[in-house]
Amino acid sequence: MTFIIIGLLAQAAHLNPLDGAPCEIVPLNRAERSCITHKTQDRAHALVFDTHAHMDTRPYEDFELMGVAGVTDVLTLAHDPMRMSTADVLLDHFHKLAHGEVRRGAENGISVHVGLGVHPRSINAQVDETLRALPEYLSHPDVVAVGEIGLERCTDVEERVFRAQLEIDYYPKVIHTPRRGKRDALERIVAIVDDVGAKDVVIDHIDLSTIDIALEAGTYVGITVQPGKASVQDAVELIREYPEAKFVVNSDMSAQRSDCLSVARVFHALSLEGYADRGQKACVQNGLDLFLR
Ligand SMILES: [Zn+2]
Repeated sequence: MTFIIIGLLAQAAHLNPLDGAPCEIVPLNRAERSCITHKTQDRAHALVFDTHAHMDTRPYEDFELMGVAGVTDVLTLAHDPMRMSTADVLLDHFHKLAHGEVRRGAENGISVHVGLGVHPRSINAQVDETLRALPEYLSHPDVVAVGEIGLERCTDVEERVFRAQLEIDYYPKVIHTPRRGKRDALERIVAIVDDVGAKDVVIDHIDLSTIDIALEAGTYVGITVQPGKASVQDAVELIREYPEAKFVVNSDMSAQRSDCLSVARVFHALSLEGYADRGQKACVQNGLDLFLR
């Protein structure tokens, strides 16, 4: 009941549902947002940017380790950490990302940025309620992206929810591709992105077997380095072979086997092989350009 009353008051007074601070109901465009947040700070100090993680599943010690290894920026994305049975479960998940994870990062010298959205595995019977609330949550200053969104089984409802989130203006989108049937799902995703005309998107979890489709799409290309997806050496090979691609390397660290240092390892490996410039782009600069400009 308290939650409902706070929600109603927030709506009436145009307060952000995440922190109760005054906010625009219509999401601000990037230039306007950058004037009111710390994102205006000179980001030249950024050393490693992990552009896809689920920090809410990780221990505090991972933040410490990343800080020690020089990871300065992380984008933590909404996902399906539990049975996402109602709209309130998803909205509470959004709240945890924008508060708990930003704070845990700050305590370790890491800028945690947030992406919010309905993951295809989080779709429930109240999904339209969540979609209606989403724009207001996106206006929080630490939120820089819509994600992670995408397709898992390519059902009609997944496609409808995916399309609705692609149509949200201003924010870059982080798009999940599934492990099973990846090529078919990827082709469907590219067709929908084209149809909507969505700009500034990352198509993620791309590997050696799907790079051809992602390059053809001309979007940012996400390489997830974790056990069962790409290895450090796979990432090095892709970045070496395709200098024209706009890669963003990430760990997608979650409750599954993950490596919180995988982006730092890719940058290090590229530097040792004489490709420090490409490492800087794929492990830092492309992420800054896309999410924090
Ligand atoms: Zn993910």
